[in-house]
This record gives sequence, structure tokens and C-alpha cells, in this order.
Amino acid sequence: MHTPEDWKRMSTISRILSLLTAGSMMVSGALNTAAPQNDVDGPLFLVNRQWTVSEAYEPGDLTKSDVAGQVRRLRPAAAEALRDMFRACREETGLQLLSISGYRSYEKQSNIYARKLRSVKKNVAKAQEFVAPPGASEHQLGVAMDIGQKHKVNLEVSFAKTEGAKWCRENCWRFGFILRYDEPWEEITGYRYEPWHFRYVGKEYAREIHDANVPLETWLISHRAEVLRELVSGEGSADLIVPATPTDLAVPATPTDLADAVIPLPEATPTDLGAKAAD
Ligand SMILES: [Zn+2]
Repeated sequence: MHTPEDWKRMSTISRILSLLTAGSMMVSGALNTAAPQNDVDGPLFLVNRQWTVSEAYEPGDLTKSDVAGQVRRLRPAAAEALRDMFRACREETGLQLLSISGYRSYEKQSNIYARKLRSVKKNVAKAQEFVAPPGASEHQLGVAMDIGQKHKVNLEVSFAKTEGAKWCRENCWRFGFILRYDEPWEEITGYRYEPWHFRYVGKEYAREIHDANVPLETWLISHRAEVLRELVSGEGSADLIVPATPTDLAVPATPTDLADAVIPLPEATPTDLGAKAAD
């Protein structure tokens, strides 16, 4: 039998627990807002040779994109966007695009990498000229697709000369994709020119990144500065409130806390691996 005192105590405990839960949700929400490149399920998560994704990460919502080609699994928004993009290309140009390689697990990347390493007598630098080490491939996120064109040589730099590649480069942003490894960016991205590799970031960001005409690494630095400016001026504070928490507990984090908590982005400097790397 609980006394009124017991109930009161339990109510206080449950109140403290909700405060802690709300607090931690707010902090993680705020961190993701302030540092979107660190939110693994978000549209701007950054993966490259310096910033890798954990072995444990596997998207829980992979689905097959309704397009022609192989290895068609992507996360749902990317899968739909890819279908729309291929359809639009067909309607506007008559060309048939193909999916070549979408989602790739950490394990699969490890196997490909290990095979490559054996074939070059364990010369790591040489292996990485051609294959990304596990954790460093954007394909593990389920938002990247290597695109080809029917009856053309694919996964070669010469693909850039095809009508399909030209159309994708010009139009991918309309569907939420960006060309991730353009030729002038090799030293910043750490990957050689890949006219076939497209990354989904959503329509809003894709338009901005396309207009800026810079690699994702570079764009994220200016984007983060903008987000922090908005947080400091209060314009972005609505993003920090997690819905369905007791309103009297929702104390927004201060801009200073957020600025300190942000994990810095890598400087856009050449990697020691050079530019001859495939993903
Ligand atoms: Zn790729």
C-alpha cells in the first residue's frame, strides 16, 4: 500500500526522469542542428577518408529503388528521388539511366578492400588508390548511387562524356542529389573524379550545394557557420525544442554551449592518399 508521501516521492522521481530524458533529447537535437555533418541518419552526414562511419551502422529502412539496373537498395527518400530522376531523364532526353551500385554494407566494403589489398601485396597506399577502406565509403549510408547509362562504358571517367552523365550533372539537384566527386575537388574530397557517383541530400540542400558549386566538405563549413549564426540570433531556436516534452522543462541550451559542443569539420586540405581513389 502506498502512502500519499510515497506517491509524492514517485511523482518527483518521474518528473526528474522526464527532465533528464527531455534534456538529453534536446541536447542531441541541438547538436544535430548545429553539426548536421555528425547526424548519421540525417541528410548531411559526412563520410570521407578522414570522417568514417561506424562498423555498426546499417540503415534500418533500406528499400529497392524502382529503376532499371542492379544493387538498387537505398534509403526510402533517396530511392524515390532516384526513380523520379531516371523517369525525368527518360522523358526529357529519351535516355535510359541504370543503377550500378547503391547500398553497400561495411562488411561488403571490407571484403572488397581485403581482396584489393591481397592483389597488391598488402601495399595499403596502392590498394586505396582504387578502393575505399571500410567505413570511408558513402555507399554504407544508403544515400549514394553509382549511375550508368545503358549501352555505355560505365564506372570510367569517360562516362562523363555521355549524354546521360551530362544530364545527371546538370539536373541531379532537382531531385535532391549532388555530384559528390567532381574533377577540381579531388584534393578536398580525397576521391578521384567520379562522374557516376551521386549522393542524396534532399532537394533543399541539393539546390544550395549545386548553386555554390563546391564539394560537400567545403559547403558544410559555411552551412555550419550559418546555422550557428541563426542559433545565436535566436532564429533557429524553434529547431531546438523537441515536441511532446513538458513545456516547463524545455529550457533551450544557450548558444555558447552549442558552439563549444560542435565537433569541428576537417580543414579542406589535400589528403596524403592523393586523388587516385575510387569509392
Ligand atoms: Zn560510388
